[in-house]
Amino acid sequence: MEIKNKLIDPFGREINYLRVSVTDRCDFRCTYCMSEDMQFLPKKDVLSLEEIEEICKSFMKLGTRKIRLTGGEPLVRKGIMQVINNLGKEVGKGLDELTITTNGSQLETKAEELFKAGVRRINVSLDHLDPIKFKEITRWGDLDKVKAGLKVAKEIGLKIKINTVAISEFNEYHLADILNWCGEENFDMTIIEVMPMGDIGKDTRYGQYLPLSKVRAELEKTFTLTDIPERTSGPARYVSVKETGRNLGFITPLTHNFCESCNRVRLTCTGTLYMCLGQDDNADLKTVLREQGPDALENAIRHAIGRKPKGHDFEISRQSSNVSVNRHMSLTGG
Ligand code: SAM
Ligand code: SF4
Repeated sequence: MEIKNKLIDPFGREINYLRVSVTDRCDFRCTYCMSEDMQFLPKKDVLSLEEIEEICKSFMKLGTRKIRLTGGEPLVRKGIMQVINNLGKEVGKGLDELTITTNGSQLETKAEELFKAGVRRINVSLDHLDPIKFKEITRWGDLDKVKAGLKVAKEIGLKIKINTVAISEFNEYHLADILNWCGEENFDMTIIEVMPMGDIGKDTRYGQYLPLSKVRAELEKTFTLTDIPERTSGPARYVSVKETGRNLGFITPLTHNFCESCNRVRLTCTGTLYMCLGQDDNADLKTVLREQGPDALENAIRHAIGRKPKGHDFEISRQSSNVSVNRHMSLTGG
């Protein structure tokens, strides 16, 4: 598809990647992401499956080449395979790639359908390989089930990247084990700094926060890490790991930000477009769609991109509050 009017933001960055949180609900309650008694949004505020598709298609008309579905847990949203199947038909035409970020709980039954729909790569979050520790961090998760799902996904031919949030003391000295396991399983891995998003109840971000500079230094005691130029226009920087033969990414929104090459925006399940993960300015695409119809979306999206900020200013410190932006990652989509 020839795109005449691509989305270019005020800093000259081409915006061609859309992340969509298709639900704020989840079957886990990871301690850094949600409080245990998390209040979810009323259904009427959430985009219908058709509305999600409509907004995605408007973005594609404006040059979006990659869509990632996330959440909450995208695979627990009822009917989501309909969206995945329909967007999957655009892969190789309007889209280069359709991908998802999942906690893996539903992969055992959904991996094959995902592959058939045109998904080729998935990110699966996993913060510990000990079942008891896994339960502790996810509160409700079952490691065996996630591992069974990963096995099916791998056999089907999905490329898998494991996302691990580095949490002080909790998995600080276990990250090398996860990295080795990823090597054995042929998975890539990305380690993520805890971001101060949304109230998480009694846990404190300062207590959870572990700078990745420290993680890298610790891993370098065991592994030979070599910086590689691979870029995804995202916040990750990659190294190759000699001992496993695979890549490792570091996402460091706190210690470094890499906003200068940002190519993405995020749509919440309520139809709010956030032009930056770490800023509050947004555009209400749901109201535009419901009150003015799909034809009004392109203009609204273009206006919103015209306000995309240069970058975020996340901060976690003993003095600063626990929360830089009020919304949870599960609403905006990680
Ligand atoms: N439920 C899916 C999952 O866990 O992969 C998709 C949504 S989840 C919000 C997306 C990613 O965000 C996960 O890798 C999760 O670990 C990460 N995440 C959630 N809250 C975070 C936070 N406060 N800081 C850093 N990463 C976070
Ligand atoms: Fe659910 Fe993902 Fe948040 Fe964990 S990180 S509670 S799996 S949305």
